[in-house]
Amino acid sequence: MPEDIGAAHGAEAIETVLTQLVMANRILAREDIIDGFGHVSVRHPLHRDRYFLSRSRSPEIVTRDDIMEFTLDGEQVSNDPRNPYKERHIHGAIYKERPDVNAVTHHHARAVLPFTMVDIPLRPMFHMASVIGTEVPVWDSQDEFGDTNMLVDTMEMGHALARTLGKRTVALLRGHGAVCVASNLKAVVMVSIGLRDNAALVQSTLALGKVKYLTDGEIEKSSKMLLGAMPLARAWDYWVARAGYSGL
Ligand SMILES: [Zn+2]
Repeated sequence: MPEDIGAAHGAEAIETVLTQLVMANRILAREDIIDGFGHVSVRHPLHRDRYFLSRSRSPEIVTRDDIMEFTLDGEQVSNDPRNPYKERHIHGAIYKERPDVNAVTHHHARAVLPFTMVDIPLRPMFHMASVIGTEVPVWDSQDEFGDTNMLVDTMEMGHALARTLGKRTVALLRGHGAVCVASNLKAVVMVSIGLRDNAALVQSTLALGKVKYLTDGEIEKSSKMLLGAMPLARAWDYWVARAGYSGL
């Protein structure tokens, strides 16, 4: 491929993920997954040792101009004087340890929080939540770091969290929130919404009786289907419309 055409394709790929990243911020805010806090990132499509994340700003108002570029160690690539998120190290550490992951959310969705504290494993109980996977571990910052401000604000803490996540799709943070990972932005939005909905449904079902969770086989088959291009595109169109960007 001639160099100029290659460069044009590269620039186009970057613009596509940046537009999706802005949309993902707005969608997650609209769906009450992230509020004034929490964030979503995407790996650089050309430089796999970098990622994009908004500057420290409420996701509901993030624009293209707010997006910053970071190395996986959390160093800003440009000289933007604006403040980055303190918890950006969550993203870099996960991208370092998981080459299969290209998009990450960190949020404090309230329905999920009880499961960070009680001894009830969070497991999919309905098909749309199969995307969270069979096992959701809980990371407790006390174990390695003792009393902290509860933020994952160093690379050391980011790596500790990434180790608890392991090869899984979701990890909970005790008394704090969750991280969700996926191979692309549309999928990580689906995982984040599925996680929150599943947590709320398990709570309401437990009030009625015993929960019959999906089997490992059902989780595998359902999640494979839902994370296909067609279901993701259909869901994404719905979320984009609900966020007020229908037709874009
Ligand atoms: Zn947080």
